[in-house]
Amino acid sequence: MTALSVTVTALAGNPLLETYKTPHQTIPFNEIKTEHYFPAFEEAMKQHSLEVDAIITNPQSPTFENTIVALESTGKLLNKVSSPFYNLLSSETTDELQAIAEKVSPILTEHSNSISLNEKLFARVKAVYEQKDKLKLTAEQQMLLQNTYDGFADNGANLSEADKAIYRELSKDLNMLTLQYGQNVLKETNQYNLLITDKNLLTGLPADFMDMLAANAKNDGKVGWMLNLKTTTYVPFMKYADNRDLRRELYMVNSTRCMTGGEYDNREIVSKIANIRLKIANLLGRKSYADHILKHRMAENKQHVYDLLDKLLVAYKPAAEKEFAEVQEYADNHGAYFKLQPWDWSYYSEKLKDEKYSVNDEMLKPYFELEHVKKGVFGLATRLYGIHFTKNHDIPVYNPEVDAYDVTDKNGKFLAILYTDFHPRDGKRAGAWMNDFKAQWMDGKTDSRPQITIVMNFTRPTSTKPALLTFDELTTLLHEFGHSLHGMLTKCNYQSLSGTNVYRDFVELPSQVMENWGSEKEFLDGFAINYLTGEKIPAELIRKIKASENFNIAYFCLRQLSFGYLDMAWHTLEKPFEGDVIDFEKEAMATTQILPVIPNTSMSTTFSHIFSGGYAAGYYSYKWAEVLDADAFSVFSKNGIFDKKTADSFRKNILTKGGTEQPMVLYKRFRGQEPTIDALLKRNGIKQ
Ligand SMILES: [Zn+2]
Repeated sequence: MTALSVTVTALAGNPLLETYKTPHQTIPFNEIKTEHYFPAFEEAMKQHSLEVDAIITNPQSPTFENTIVALESTGKLLNKVSSPFYNLLSSETTDELQAIAEKVSPILTEHSNSISLNEKLFARVKAVYEQKDKLKLTAEQQMLLQNTYDGFADNGANLSEADKAIYRELSKDLNMLTLQYGQNVLKETNQYNLLITDKNLLTGLPADFMDMLAANAKNDGKVGWMLNLKTTTYVPFMKYADNRDLRRELYMVNSTRCMTGGEYDNREIVSKIANIRLKIANLLGRKSYADHILKHRMAENKQHVYDLLDKLLVAYKPAAEKEFAEVQEYADNHGAYFKLQPWDWSYYSEKLKDEKYSVNDEMLKPYFELEHVKKGVFGLATRLYGIHFTKNHDIPVYNPEVDAYDVTDKNGKFLAILYTDFHPRDGKRAGAWMNDFKAQWMDGKTDSRPQITIVMNFTRPTSTKPALLTFDELTTLLHEFGHSLHGMLTKCNYQSLSGTNVYRDFVELPSQVMENWGSEKEFLDGFAINYLTGEKIPAELIRKIKASENFNIAYFCLRQLSFGYLDMAWHTLEKPFEGDVIDFEKEAMATTQILPVIPNTSMSTTFSHIFSGGYAAGYYSYKWAEVLDADAFSVFSKNGIFDKKTADSFRKNILTKGGTEQPMVLYKRFRGQEPTIDALLKRNGIKQ
């Protein structure tokens, strides 16, 4: 058989390349086989290239329609192939899928580079961009034009040939360094093990945690209890271990990772990454890397980021000092004759928290049966937005545990498909997320509606017990469901701007705002019913949840601020960094420290979020989003948490709009003003 006929066979009857005949053209998971993906990817990339070529070779001079909109409409087949593929890679993966991912991902990168680095294509985009003021574009069209242009320009398209070569070299180095940084953190973290054979050293640890430590040891062929630096071991150990020397030892090993001159030392890499990012920003005409990143953020510039960090610091620091004093006093009263050190903090805090609130997961779980919670959460969307969820058994799913719903608007009109996938399985990664199988867009007058999925890892039911959620799991469900509303209620013209395609410091508003309902009695009363006794969740329990959520809240805020300041310090550099990484860090974090600062420890050498993840000049966005969600929810609190008018306004101004306008413009339309930190202060009990 020749290579050609292999391709032909693979393409013929490949469901990924045909029009789906399923309800609402949902993905026919029952027909798609693993071997369909690779040939479909190849065919889809080929078609995508042809579509782009047609734009480049269009004999007419470039216009918004024939270039920007045309480019936006390319690649639909590639999306159609990649969205089920990458969703399954997270929620139902197999060795075969992973092998395909490895094979296809460099080809996809090369394919997307062939478009984003195409000079002829950029020339057309630029020609349209340069006439933008004369084109009388709508806000949404302006956004599309700006994003399209920046997509090329931020990739170096405007540079001279010589600078382009430098840019490519810098990007390559940056890639390699961030990768190496992440691997160093991982290796240094994983190489530490401490075997304890004397049980007396481990008093205070809960029994199931001891079992886990014993299993750690057994996995390593040892007898005893094995400590390590993985979060699942480190965090509970610091919370519960009575032995102060061991706590100190673990803390010190953890806080000096990648900075002690060994094989995995990251100090030099930190300087190099910061300096390469600065060079890239300079090449692109920016003073600092933060200037480059914040251009596409709601915060817009570093001044706005610092304004937020500074305001929160002033508001929370006195409260954090009070919290410290309270934990210190508790420790003193319980036999500690020393000033609390970082390795004492979790330990005494946990004991004080227990004494003050005595509320735990086991007390709450009977009220949060998954089936009840689902009804409550869907019902919330019905009450707020008038939308309805109907299970559709005719829609194919990728696992029998997955449900598919038709989501309809108050007038019965079809809005979206929602898939839900609640329990852990082999082949599903940890965590919780929302994603789409198909985005929303308009094609002329036709509104092509989205297909959304939310995926969790909640404890599954047993033969004797239904699935019971913890309070955190309820919050997680509300969070991901909030993202899904952003995805389902959207109504935009262009796919790249619809739904959750918004700036990173804005995307958590619709999700986090939903979490607020989770501690409202009016909402909980509707579904939080004890599955054994039928009793409603007691008001006292809700009060305790709320109060315990605010325990040490100011300390945690300052901790987040310290990371935010450190991130900004590294990425607002305007001159190459030549100093000492540790000294630089201590100075950047100085104002936020509540616990004693231990010399010769480092955060920068293990700060993967900003040195190997996507959060460079973006760590502030955690706090930014919290301020936004509290501020937005304060409108609901004031007008009633089920107030239709408020919900309508949130839907109209935020949820339908995606990224079609600047987020601050959208937000102000809903709120009537810019957000302030007041509502967050109130929620956290910092201010009455
Ligand atoms: Zn989220």
